[in-house]
Amino acid sequence: MKDEKNGGKKIAILGSTGSIGTQTLEVVRSNPELKVVALAAGSNVERLEAQVREFHPEVVGMWSEQAACDLRTRLSDLNVRVVTGMEGLLEIAVLPEIQVLVTAIVGMIGIRPTIAAISAGKDIALANKETLVTAGHLIMPLAREKGVSILPVDSEHSAIFQSLNGEPKGRVEKILLTASGGPFRGRTREQLAHMQVEDALKHPNWSMGRKITVDSSTLVNKGLEVMEARWLFHVELEQIQVVVHPQSIIHSAVQFVDGAIIAQLGIPDMKLPIQYALFYPDRKPMDGKRVDLFEMGQLTFEKPDLQTFTGLELAYKAAKQGGSMPTVFNAANEKAVALFLNKSITYLQIPELIGSAMEQHRVILEPTVEQILETEMQTYEYISGRISH
Ligand code: NAD
Ligand code: MG
Repeated sequence: MKDEKNGGKKIAILGSTGSIGTQTLEVVRSNPELKVVALAAGSNVERLEAQVREFHPEVVGMWSEQAACDLRTRLSDLNVRVVTGMEGLLEIAVLPEIQVLVTAIVGMIGIRPTIAAISAGKDIALANKETLVTAGHLIMPLAREKGVSILPVDSEHSAIFQSLNGEPKGRVEKILLTASGGPFRGRTREQLAHMQVEDALKHPNWSMGRKITVDSSTLVNKGLEVMEARWLFHVELEQIQVVVHPQSIIHSAVQFVDGAIIAQLGIPDMKLPIQYALFYPDRKPMDGKRVDLFEMGQLTFEKPDLQTFTGLELAYKAAKQGGSMPTVFNAANEKAVALFLNKSITYLQIPELIGSAMEQHRVILEPTVEQILETEMQTYEYISGRISH
């Protein structure tokens, strides 16, 4: 990774006002060698203004034109450029000064900026898993061609990345992808039928954005992570085993060809994987709570219940079919989760809608970005049609 000795490391964050975005800025706050060149967010003008005043980026992006106007007025005393929409995200992604782009945006909106940044030779600290799930076949070869690193921010993938460190290539037997099991671990389908938004938003170990919190409760998040791991670490689907580990202390592990298992443990805190991605291959000091194994006493493991949490089963199916099917899985889930959060559908309608969207889709092998985005739109329309009838 290209690191400038004098000016520090220059980064841009897409999705700076969200859960990963604000934690990335906390990491910046305690590491003065990181310099924020650009920030972008959806519509939270107030939070973005405060971030600009604290971190002094040169460019900021607001998705909506109206929010951008408001931000320009608020920041008229500063010398900062405000850009908007997809054009703005693409402009930020390729700014000549930046070395690392942190993708902390939610959803497939991240595909085009990620591809643009890789094409311009930027390393990617990747939180935005939906991008890799739907366009991994385009992103990974491009990254290899351009010699850029895709550094995982997702805690499980960071754990796998850390466990692989220094091991010879091609010596992986299996990836043990851990899952907390979410707030509904151990529940039956009958019980799940009655779950409300408030129940799904109570994650036992992690505090995250709303969409990913619901995805953790359905195990769809784990399904997306299986697909993410496959692209990041070039393994077969059969080599990825999901292990339910309710304490969330082992963040994932790798089993090698000699049977050795190397794992990364830590308290659940996204700042560690974020900091590791930003300074890789260095490991910087970090304050905070440590794992106390005596206090923990026990670490436990279970098989995932695929009959109850059908979202994970559907993810495996989508991954096996490949091509545009992971896009359908992801887009259907995104739409269904938004409808659930609006209280327009019930909890179990989330996997039901994903399943029926997948059934009506004809797979496009090796889809282009345009075909991926078209498939996303068609899936959204399909689900809207299903709900309005
Ligand atoms: P979040 O909802 O808290 O934040 C999303 C951010 O993206 C916000 O800043 C929002 O303003 C911005 N955004 C949304 N739409 C935008 C648009 N059109 N243009 C510009 N900005 C836009 O989400 P999060 O929980 O931080 O998750 C971000 C990504 O990281 C997701 O892909 C998620 O799966 C992944 N992830 C999150 C966690 C976590 O702990 N939160 C852990 C692992 C992976
Ligand atoms: Mg994760």
